[in-house]
Amino acid sequence: MERILCPAVTKVSVRGLVQIMLKGKVAIVTGGTRGIGFEIVRKYLANGAKVVLFGSRQETVDKAMEKLNAENPAWEVEGMCPSLVNATEVEEAVNKVYEKYKRLDILVNNAGISSSTPLYNYTAEEFDKIIDLNVKAVFYAILPAAKIMKEQGGGCIINTSSMVSISGQPAGAGYPASKFAVNGLTISLARELGKDKIRINAVAPGVTKTDMVAALPEQTVKAISARIPLGRAGEPEEVADAFLYLASDMASYVTGEILSVDGASKA
Ligand code: NAD
Repeated sequence: MERILCPAVTKVSVRGLVQIMLKGKVAIVTGGTRGIGFEIVRKYLANGAKVVLFGSRQETVDKAMEKLNAENPAWEVEGMCPSLVNATEVEEAVNKVYEKYKRLDILVNNAGISSSTPLYNYTAEEFDKIIDLNVKAVFYAILPAAKIMKEQGGGCIINTSSMVSISGQPAGAGYPASKFAVNGLTISLARELGKDKIRINAVAPGVTKTDMVAALPEQTVKAISARIPLGRAGEPEEVADAFLYLASDMASYVTGEILSVDGASKA
């Protein structure tokens, strides 16, 4: 991986510079068991946050926890697996986190599924499934989290959008439709919740090397990568850096922003 860093920074480890960006903060990260979500969890923990990751299955949650505990036994991390498409289960899980830690500073809505199904092969079920997880589940988590954040005097919500929320994509229309909706929620709620000191932003990754991309046809990935001005796909860690910035006090005046991390793919 070739990262472009400013010369003054290249001799110092990036992790060394950002150790305490989230000291004492409590975060929930959905879809935190692998891919971009797992890197967000690692980065938040390495920066002093306590993290509760939400996964879809106990088995994958356990596996992720094992990896994190092996990397640093001092990290304060736990896993839960509420059904994200069930508003009641999500509300209960969010409230449980608050009951335990007595605060909730950061909510990251990262869990998502994609699709590249052409329109004429699409089923209503597939469309519903994408909207349920990528849009409704985001709303279900925001609702209880925002109530807690308002009560405690502020907080920060970060949604995972995509570059296709700006450019669309040539097949699998349900996926960009869901991410356009994520942007809509983000921008509108930033306007509504600013008075409660709740910042809400989204990160819009380009092609990033995770299982989601591994599931796409190789030709599609090649074609997209060839058009990226930086000449390569992104690493999950590079996307997680944007989530770290937005969650930190360095972004204290940033809200309603859709931050692209895509090597200028959509340009
Ligand atoms: P991934 O497939 O590696 O991870 C997806 C995560 O979502 C996993 O943790 C998985 O457990 C979780 N998840 C999936 N279905 C779930 C369900 N029903 N309930 C609960 N959790 C569920 O993918 P990723 O690339 O890390 O994607 C993370 C986010 O980034 C997604 O929102 C995705 O749309 C977005 N994104 C990814 C790319 C990319 O190129 N990888 C580009 C743009 C946006």
